[in-house]
Amino acid sequence: MIPPSAQSSRDIYSTSPPSLDLGVFLRRMRSAQRSHQAPSCDARVAHLDRLEEALLRRKGALVDAIQKDFGNRSRHETLIADIFVTLNELKFARAHLRAWMQPRPRHVGLSFLPAHAVLLYQPLGVVGIISPWNYPVQLAIAPLIGALAAGNRVIIKPSELTPATGEALKDLIAETFDPDHVAVVTGGPSVGEAFSRLPFDHLVFTGSTRVGKAVMRAASENLVPLVLELGGKSPAIVGDDFDIVAAAERIMMGKLFNSGQTCVAPDYVLVPEDKRDAFVDAARDVVANMYPTLQKNQDYTCVINDRHYARLQGYIEDARGRGARVIEINPARETLDPKDRKLCPTLLLDVSDDALVMQEEIFGPLLPIKTYRALSEAIDFVNDKSNPLALYYFGHDRRQIDRVLSETLSGGVGINETMAHVAQEDLPFGGVGASGMGAYHGFDGFEAFSKKKPVFYQSRIRTTGLLSPPYGRMVDTFLRWILGK
Ligand code: NAD
Repeated sequence: MIPPSAQSSRDIYSTSPPSLDLGVFLRRMRSAQRSHQAPSCDARVAHLDRLEEALLRRKGALVDAIQKDFGNRSRHETLIADIFVTLNELKFARAHLRAWMQPRPRHVGLSFLPAHAVLLYQPLGVVGIISPWNYPVQLAIAPLIGALAAGNRVIIKPSELTPATGEALKDLIAETFDPDHVAVVTGGPSVGEAFSRLPFDHLVFTGSTRVGKAVMRAASENLVPLVLELGGKSPAIVGDDFDIVAAAERIMMGKLFNSGQTCVAPDYVLVPEDKRDAFVDAARDVVANMYPTLQKNQDYTCVINDRHYARLQGYIEDARGRGARVIEINPARETLDPKDRKLCPTLLLDVSDDALVMQEEIFGPLLPIKTYRALSEAIDFVNDKSNPLALYYFGHDRRQIDRVLSETLSGGVGINETMAHVAQEDLPFGGVGASGMGAYHGFDGFEAFSKKKPVFYQSRIRTTGLLSPPYGRMVDTFLRWILGK
C-alpha cells in the first residue's frame, strides 16, 4: 500500500493487481470535503476555468494519445467528439451554474401557510467515474464537469484499453487540481472492480451492460447511487416518406464515425421493403464519397484492438453462415491488412434474427439492413428487443413521428438525424432499462451529482400548532372544513 499522504495525484496509480489502497485514498478525499465548506459558485467556476484551460493546452497531447491507442483515430473525430463536445458541456455548465445553484421555491399546502419551502442543491461528497475507451476523454471529463459543477470531489478510472489516454488524463488532472480534489487511477478490470466496491457518494459507470450489472452489484453493498451509461442496439427506422439518399447519408455518417464504435451509433436499420435496394445503392455511394480509400485514410478510424476486430469478423462469418448477403464497401478495392484493424464498412442483407449481429451490440462498422411493410412491424421489431440507448426515425409525417415516439421507449431519440441529440447540453443523456439508468449533461448532470434537499421553513405565525392535542372543537372544525362532514 502506498500511503496517500506521500504522493501527488500524478502518482495515484494502480495496475492490476491494485497496489494502492483506494479506500484510504477515498476517505482522505472525503475528509477534505468535510473540512471545507461546499465550494461557492465562484470557486466552482474557477475549477471549470482551470479544466477548460488544461483541455485547451493539452488538446494536442490528447489527440496524439488517442491516436496511439487506436492505431489510427481520425484527428478530426477526436477534436469534434472528445474535445469540442466536452468543452461545450463545460461552457454550458459554467454559464448556467449560478442559476442552477439557486434554491428552488416549492409549493406549500394551504393549511401550512404562511410557511414556505425550498429545494437546496448540495454537493454529495466524492463521486467515482469509471469510463470506457471509445471516447476516452469525453466520457471521463463530461461527468467530471457535472460533478465539479455540483461541488464534489472526483476520482476517475479510465479504460485500460486506451492506456496512453489514461496517462495523458492523469497528467492533465494532476497539473490542474489538488490530489484531494480530483484524481485519476488507472488499471484494468480488477482495479475497476475494487473501485466499484468503494463507498463513494455517487458512482458513474459508462461501459457495457455486462460490466454494468457487476458494478451495480458491487455498489449495492454500500448503497452507492449510480448513473449507469450502458450500450445496446440502437435502431434507425426509415419512414416511407423520407428521401432514401438523405437517410443513407445520415445513417452511414453516424454508423462510420469512429468506425461505429459509438454507444449511440445506429446499430441496424429498418427500411420499407420496396426501398431496400435504393438504400443499399445510396449507402455505397455515400461511403465512397466519405472514404474513397480505407487503408491509409486518416479519416477512417481503426477497430480498437485485435479482440474486437476478431469479434466483428466473427459476426460477419456467423451472419454469412446463416444465409446473409454481405456487401463490403471498399471503394478503392484495397487489400486491408488485418494487422491494421481497418474493417470495411459492411452492409448485411437478409440477416437472420438469431445471428450474433442481431443479438449483440455491434460497436463496429457493420450495418444489418432489415425490411418492413407497415410501420407497426418496425415498431414491434424494436420493442421485441431491450430498450435501446438511442432510436432514430427518418420521416416528415407528424403522425408517424408521434407514433414512433409514443410506442417505443429508448434513452434518447433523433428525428431525421443520427447522434446529434447527444451533443445538446440541455438534453439529459442516459439510457433506460438495459441501456442504463439515470442521466447527466447540463442541468441534469448538476442535479444527478447533487443532493436535492427539501427544506420546510416554519413562519413566525405557526398554524400547525392549532392541530396539536388536546383535540377539541377547533380541530374538528378544521377537519370538517378540509375533509367535509
Ligand atoms: P467495459 O464495460 O468493458 O469497460 C468499461 C470500464 O469498466 C473500463 O474502465 C473497465 O476497466 C471497467 N471494468 C471492467 N470490468 C470491470 C468490473 N468487473 N468492475 C468495474 N469496472 C470494470 O466497456 P468498454 O468496452 O470500455 O466500452 C464499450 C461499451 O460501453 C459498449 O457497450 C458501449 O455501448 C458502452 N458505452 C456506453 C456509453 C453511454 O454513454 N451510454 C458511452 C460509451 C460506451
